Order: sequence, then structure tokens, then C-alpha cells
Amino acid sequence: MSDFLPTGIQLTYLVAASLFILGLKKLGSPATARNGNVVAAVGMLLAIVATLLDQQVLNYQMILVGLAIGAGIGAIAAYKVQMTEMPQMVGLLNGLGGAASALIAVAEFWRLIAASEPIPLDVNISILLDVLIGGVTLTGSFIAFAKLQGLISGSPIKLPFQQPLNLLLLAAYIVGSVYLIITPDSLPIFFGVVGVSLVLGIMFVLPIGGGDMPVVISLLNSLSGIAAAAAGFVVMNNMLIIAGALVGASGLILTQIMCKAMNRSLFSVLFGAFGGAVAGGATGATGATGDQTVRSIDAEEGAMMLGYARNVVIVPGYGMAVAQAQHSVRELADQLERMGVDVKYAIHPVAGRMPGHMNVLLAEANVAYTQLYDMDDINPQLETADVALVIGANDVVNPAARTDVNSPIYGMPILEVDRAKQTIVIKRGMSTGFAGVDNELFYKDKTTMLFGGAKDMVSKLVSEVKQL
Ligand code: NDP
Repeated sequence: MSDFLPTGIQLTYLVAASLFILGLKKLGSPATARNGNVVAAVGMLLAIVATLLDQQVLNYQMILVGLAIGAGIGAIAAYKVQMTEMPQMVGLLNGLGGAASALIAVAEFWRLIAASEPIPLDVNISILLDVLIGGVTLTGSFIAFAKLQGLISGSPIKLPFQQPLNLLLLAAYIVGSVYLIITPDSLPIFFGVVGVSLVLGIMFVLPIGGGDMPVVISLLNSLSGIAAAAAGFVVMNNMLIIAGALVGASGLILTQIMCKAMNRSLFSVLFGAFGGAVAGGATGATGATGDQTVRSIDAEEGAMMLGYARNVVIVPGYGMAVAQAQHSVRELADQLERMGVDVKYAIHPVAGRMPGHMNVLLAEANVAYTQLYDMDDINPQLETADVALVIGANDVVNPAARTDVNSPIYGMPILEVDRAKQTIVIKRGMSTGFAGVDNELFYKDKTTMLFGGAKDMVSKLVSEVKQL
């Protein structure tokens, strides 16, 4: 049995790793994503069960208590947290992942010192990297959470002498680590290194503005995976190394996709001040459009424009998510299609507040995947669209991103609804979106505003369209 168990465990890990990769592959398409989630979850269950059967597990009581507390908190959070608060939630979970990995390194270093066992060089280096990456992920994610939750200002916060201070902290980490590699015997110096890593995480995220938080969160997600992989090297666990590497790699790919969607380089996100320009950009944009007027219509007029169109492109945004209007939107689309109108949905990669936000909501309302079009596919078709119906979207349709070099969102690819023959915008008032900048789209001749909450207004459109 004792010979069998490790081999059995390694084989189970192999199966679990294959299921992770298959699951990730299936997550690549909306049609197979749910199935992919289940496949990966089965892989994780196998990995956990196999690990629990490992003979090195000494204390099942502690594990059960931890499991009960963690599952309880997780279940409550899953029920309570609104879909629009998902980025904060993901941020928090990334941070806890980083903390768990860093704690593994701390526990292992402590144990080896207490037992006066020699620490092999590779394990020592893994411990020090784990502490750095896990520590930065923990505090960095907590700051990102606090910014998104509004607990601290979303604007970039720069301390005096920020850069020299960062360099000093990095130097302290390197000096401490080199000392511990040469003479791994000092717990105070080790905890000093842990402390410096935690402070580095705070210093890393504080100067980044709220507008760049999606990118930061996916980068921290990637870091939490790398920290887990480092923890895998610390305790020599293949599963942790593989799972960590997969999270690290997929997080990096997502970071790159988000950067591309916002036309930002990762360097400028981390060291620029996108958020800092937001306030200035908002003022500038308002100045340019301040004395212009908007054309407002009511639901009856909106219904006529939609009902007599040949093709309509629906552009959902954050407002649709807050109002939970996706079911009414689907009802409107169904009704229009029954009247012979061709309906498509245009999905911007950063619409809403989390990657894939619109896809998730529309899938919940059973909108067919084939009706969803990515930005690159729909933009060339928008010129021939009779009506672009913007529902609670703002930044992702702001033409300033194309035309106003002074706008903080300049260069971000947008859904070009201003090229459609007519544009209807549903929103409650003239408030700005996430980036805090005014939107010249609302003042254009071809644009009409349908003021009201997304759910209420779309429901009104449905009943008006039915009467045509
Ligand atoms: P925006 O945040 O730009 O705009 C949303 C608009 O919805 C607001 O102007 C608001 O105007 C309106 N709105 C709010 N509530 C309602 C409601 N109940 N009914 C109708 N309208 C409503 O949203 P977009 O989706 O266009 O853009 C997303 C922004 O979020 C981008 O700047 C993106 O970078 C950022 N971001 C994206 C993340 C992601 O991963 N997707 C994560 C974090 C940020 P009014 O108050 O007048 O109604």
C-alpha cells in the first residue's frame, strides 16, 4: 500500500492536470464553457482527494475545520455578492490565494529552522520567491479590492519619493534574500523579508488608477498562480506546480487581452497614470461638449425606430448589468425578430465590470451565442445598421477614444455605434461611465437619448413594439 499510494497519487494528479487543460480549452468558447467548468472542477476534486490521501497528511481535524469555515464563508459570499461586484470579489480571492501560498513558504522555512534541518538551495530559493510573489499578491489585491469597493480613492495615490522608496524596498528584499541563501538560520531576517514583500504589494498597486484595475486584477490573478507554483516547489507537490503554472499562464494571457482591449501597454498600466488623467480628461471633455444639447425621445418613438428597422445592433454595457435588464433585452430582441428585424449583439471586451460580463448575463437570458459579435466582427457591420441600441453602455461607445487625443481613453478600441444610421442610448441621465469622461456620442445629430433605468425602459419598448 505504501508503495502504491504515491504512484496512485501521481497518476491521479496526471488525470487531474489533463482535466484542467481540457477544461481550460472548453472555456475558450461560450458554447462549451459550462461543460469546461465542470470538467476542471472534477479535476480539482480528484486532485484534492488524492492529496488528502497522502500519508504526509497528519491532522484531518484541522483540515475539516478549515474546509467548513472556508466553504461557509464562500457560500455566503457567492449568494450575497452582486454580479457587478465581481471584480472586487475576484481581487479578494486572488489575494487569499497569494496569502495561502506565502503561508506555505513561511511554515516550511519555520519548520526547517525549528528542526535545525539544512535547507536545500532550490527549496530556499522557492521559499523566498514564494514569499515575495505571494506577499505582493496578498497586499496588492487587498488594495485593488479597497479601490474598487470605494473604501479608498480609486485615483492613483503617489507617495513622496515613491520610486526611490520602491527601489529601497526591492534592495532590502534582495539583500535579505541573499543573506538567507548564504546563511539560512535567521527567523527575524526571514520575517523582515516577508514584511518587505507585503509593503511592496501596497506600493505596487497604490499608484495605479481605478481605470486600470481590470488589468491589475488579472495580473494579480496570474501572480497568485505563480505563487502557488512556487509553493509547489517548496513542498515538492506536482499538482500545485501544474495548477499554479496554468493559472499563471492563463492570467497573463487575460492580462494581455485586457491591455489590448484598452489599448494600453502593461508597462504604462504599471508605471503610467491612466487614472490620474481621468479627472483632467473629464473636465476637458465637458468643456468641449458643455453647451451642446441632446435629443431625447420616449419609448413610443424608440419602438417605432426599432420596429421599422431592417437590422438592429444591441450594445449592452454596465447599466444593463446593474439594472439586470438582460431578460427584458432578450424579450425585446425576440419581439423584433418576430417582426422580421435582424438583431445582433455587439460585445466589447471590457463592457461591464469584469471580463466576459456581458456574455455571462446574455447567456443567463438564453441569448444564442451565434447572435453575439466581438468588436472586430461587428464594427465593419455597424455602418449598415439601421439602429444601434446602446443599453447602459458609455465608455465602450465613446468616439473620443478615436478622435480626442487629450481624452484619457484615447486609443481604446470602441464599438463604433456613431457610424450606424441611427443610435438610441438608454441611460438614466447624463452621468459619465467608469472612466469619468463625457461622451460626445450623446450630442450627435444621429443620436437620440431614451432616459430611464435600463430594465424599465426596455420593458416599455417591448410593450410599445408589440403594439406596432
Ligand atoms: P460605463 O461604466 O462606461 O457606463 C455605464 C453607464 O450606464 C453609465 O454612464 C450610467 O449612466 C449607465 N447606467 C448605470 N445604471 C444604469 C441603469 N440602472 N439603467 C440604465 N443605465 C444605467 O460602462 P461600459 O460598459 O460602457 O464600460 C465599462 C467601463 O468599465 C470601461 O471603462 C472599462 O474599462 C471599465 N471596467 C471594465 C472591467 C471589465 O473587466 N469589463 C472591470 C473594471 C472596469 P447613468 O448614470 O446616466 O444612467
